[in-house]
Amino acid sequence: MKLILASRNPGKLRELQELLSGFGVEILLESQVGLDLEVEETGTTFEENSLLKARAVMEAAGLAAIADDSGLEVDALNGAPGVYSARYGGLDSDEARTALLLQRLEAVPDAQRTARFVSVLTACLPDGRVIQARGTCEGRITRAPRGSGGFGYDPVFLVPELGQTFAEMPAEEKNRISHRANALRQFAEKWEKEIRHADE
Ligand code: IMP
Repeated sequence: MKLILASRNPGKLRELQELLSGFGVEILLESQVGLDLEVEETGTTFEENSLLKARAVMEAAGLAAIADDSGLEVDALNGAPGVYSARYGGLDSDEARTALLLQRLEAVPDAQRTARFVSVLTACLPDGRVIQARGTCEGRITRAPRGSGGFGYDPVFLVPELGQTFAEMPAEEKNRISHRANALRQFAEKWEKEIRHADE
């Protein structure tokens, strides 16, 4: 089966292509099927926005599509930036959004800087079937950016058990423990049961 990857975020695209490489379906990028959709993320949950993106691309292409909606939930900020992670503070660069986050957490002590990344993967098939799975990764927000790998909020997201931020660890390590990797594990199980077996 062909599955179109509904994303234009280069950091996410790279990770999703790596994560999906062993999945046993042919992954196509939107650009490979002549699509460049700007889908408005009008939902208030990762589930809603992930579904909006996957459905829009499936409908435009007439082929199955998979989308990720993800973001960072910071406990001391009542879950912000959450679904607004990509547009936090209306700012247009990862560096500016990260700086704003650190500024808003300035007075928050280390023990209360807990946070998690969330990823919701959704696949929409042209026959109406939908597969959705959520993954998280727990961590803490540092006091300054550390490392140069990854994208988005990676330099300020510390995985305490490893003593490294997502931006300091090798890509393979992030891809083993990340919210997106955890979502994909759940997703693969559901896909196996609900799509692969059902179609055999
Ligand atoms: P989306 O494209 O609307 O799902 O936006 C996701 C946003 O959440 C990205 O632009 C990043 O700011 C943030 N984000 C999601 N996943 C990650 C990650 O793995 N590392 C760093 N930031 C992430």
